[in-house]
Amino acid sequence: MSVKLYKDFLREIFPQYEQVRKVSLNAGFNCPNLDGTIGTGGCAYCNNSSFSPVATTQLPFLEQLKAGIEKIRKKKKEIGILAYFQSYTNTHAPVQKLREIFTPVISHNDVAGIAVGTRPDCLPPQVVELLAELKKAKPVIVEIGVQTANNETLKNINRNHTVECVRNAAAFCKNAGLAITAHIIIGLPGENIGDFTSTANLVRDCGFSAIKIHPLHIVKGTRFAEEYQKGKIKLLSLEEYCEAATEVIRIVSPYTAIERISGESPGDMLLAPAWSRDRNLIISKLPILCD
Ligand code: SF4
Repeated sequence: MSVKLYKDFLREIFPQYEQVRKVSLNAGFNCPNLDGTIGTGGCAYCNNSSFSPVATTQLPFLEQLKAGIEKIRKKKKEIGILAYFQSYTNTHAPVQKLREIFTPVISHNDVAGIAVGTRPDCLPPQVVELLAELKKAKPVIVEIGVQTANNETLKNINRNHTVECVRNAAAFCKNAGLAITAHIIIGLPGENIGDFTSTANLVRDCGFSAIKIHPLHIVKGTRFAEEYQKGKIKLLSLEEYCEAATEVIRIVSPYTAIERISGESPGDMLLAPAWSRDRNLIISKLPILCD
């Protein structure tokens, strides 16, 4: 089985760099699932501070970029920089505003390309057209929150979009020549291996170039944290997760690159499971990644 790693994908789109690193940015966007545009309360597992290192920064985004580049280049000068608009929903603004934010970043001499994290229902034609226009200058990757291919689960976790919406957003971006990355969660309440493989099939069939696979992990300040503390959520064991992740990787390979297989939350925000942060431990249980 040939598995594609994210570094291989980055080499394809940034052949001039041996290594590319992301610099996370918070450009001050909100989320339509928090501010009432689409919903309120947010997704049941979400506390943005837990998965975006810059979610609470007060620095303007161009200063964040400068600081991030300096930090990376201190260690190695020739690393390519992928500016990653990570916090909240990074296409949730009028197109002109998006243009004003993305243009100085993608035009920055030290930036090799940009990645834009967003929801599938926040990619209207004008936004995709803007991203496709920016792609003429440098590579643009659109990171889309997919989470699951089960509409019932999407409802239960208060995502406020459907699987059909994911399919449409992916097709629209692909038709515009944009690379797309899927974020999925293994272990959402009520789901089993059949759901995890359906999600993998969705990611493969939509032509995602890369995938971030996350085990469901419970962070403070979320609806899931309350339910977990009341004993209402059963989490997967490390072994169960690795078994499911292996199957997901098998389904999406070799066309979809594996970017992430662990959780993203800092230790002080994570309630459970503790192993979800231990990337090396998880990798050691995923021999498929080394085959
Ligand atoms: S996970 Fe994304 S879409 Fe959901 S509430 Fe958090 S920022 Fe919004």
